[in-house]
Amino acid sequence: MIAVSACLMGIPCRYNGLSAQCSQLIESLGNLPVIPFCPEVMGGLTIPRLPAEILHGDGNTVLNGEACVYDAQANDVTAQFIKGAESAVRYLNRQAVKVVVLKERSPSCGVNWIYDGTFTGTLREGCGVTTALIKLHHIQFYTESKQDDISSWLINMEGEV
Ligand code: SF4
Repeated sequence: MIAVSACLMGIPCRYNGLSAQCSQLIESLGNLPVIPFCPEVMGGLTIPRLPAEILHGDGNTVLNGEACVYDAQANDVTAQFIKGAESAVRYLNRQAVKVVVLKERSPSCGVNWIYDGTFTGTLREGCGVTTALIKLHHIQFYTESKQDDISSWLINMEGEV
């Protein structure tokens, strides 16, 4: 089973009430069974909601208690992000998900890049909170921003998901 950040599948669950539909990804996945999931909604945040960014860290340091997630009005939403990550990983394990495709640059789902906490559109290297927990649980993951990696994996795993 494959799980995908819900916004990539066209579900309007982003902070601004929109999706981030990735047609190339949807086309690549074809008729494979896919579970969409949104950690921020699973953590109790609403649609729409204020944008949020990790300040002075990334998902790893949030899980370690060394960094926090703030929304654009400086409200601390770290607890909701951690709850969302934990709920998402529990759900992925229950559903026997083997592979996850995650939305790059999200404070939850980002894989290689996130925004730097200044709400100025500045990126920094690092992963989101849910991605950090997915790594700890050794679940295989990809990002929609590296379609070649997804295509290679799909070719290699044909018939096994
Ligand atoms: Fe998309 Fe993940 Fe953000 Fe939900 S938490 S809107 S699935 S990037």
